[in-house]
Amino acid sequence: MELGLAGRGALVTGASKGLGLATALALARDGATLAIVARTADTLEQARQAVVAASAGDRNDVLAIATDVTAPGEAERVVAEAGAHFGGGIDIVVPNAGGPSPGGAWDVDDDQLRAAFEANCLASIRLARAALPKMKQNQWGRICCITSASVKQPLPYLSLSNVARTALWAWAKTAASDVAAFGVTVNLACPGLHDTDRMRALGGSGGAPMGDPANFGKVVAFLCSEPAAFVNGVALQIDGGATLGLL
Ligand code: NAP
Repeated sequence: MELGLAGRGALVTGASKGLGLATALALARDGATLAIVARTADTLEQARQAVVAASAGDRNDVLAIATDVTAPGEAERVVAEAGAHFGGGIDIVVPNAGGPSPGGAWDVDDDQLRAAFEANCLASIRLARAALPKMKQNQWGRICCITSASVKQPLPYLSLSNVARTALWAWAKTAASDVAAFGVTVNLACPGLHDTDRMRALGGSGGAPMGDPANFGKVVAFLCSEPAAFVNGVALQIDGGATLGLL
């Protein structure tokens, strides 16, 4: 399938490992020019080299910005820097960051809730908001946040994640219809168990089937593509059927 990504400028955050890196690689293979963000400079540089090697477009044009997307002003700064690097602003933004620690609903305190809300909701909204004016001007844009299958079915003992991500889903659903007329879509990619560092840190899948991050990245690339122009306001479960609700 022709995804129509050649020449598109794509910003992916949380992109040095796991699902974010897989998404950056998929977008690069399909011709997009990439800007990638993560906090740790050396792993980000390794990721940049991998994206350069995968790029179907301009291999010398992959921008890496080492920063924390939750830090004040940083979401806006990376959007401005990536937009200037691409020339005409950002066409595609994939907001993503690490997930919060596990914890029961009665165990987590206000500070933990605020931190989860910053990383897994507010930072994504800030990135999208900063990217939108150029997308509207260009009459084309794709915003696809990486969240969790928990937006449809809260996961036991992941209360911080459940709270922050459902708030983002409510925002995205509201935001999507407001920008449809400008050729901009707002969707969520909602992973179930995937074989990444995060999943291993949480103790693995306990024998349950795990998705391949590379396939996850290709699904996100599709949601950011030309043919997905009319896919808007969707939270797509990418979970091997694990979520049991009638969604
Ligand atoms: P991961 O392997 O831990 O990778 C997270 C990436 O985000 C890394 O590149 C990390 O690099 C970067 N990052 C973390 N916090 C950041 C911040 N504040 N600012 C900028 N970059 C940041 O995680 P993953 O498994 O790919 O998961 C991605 C997202 O999907 C997470 O929110 C996770 O909770 C969610 N999720 C994953 C699964 C799964 O099975 N893997 C399932 C459901 C939901 P630095 O640490 O260097 O910044």
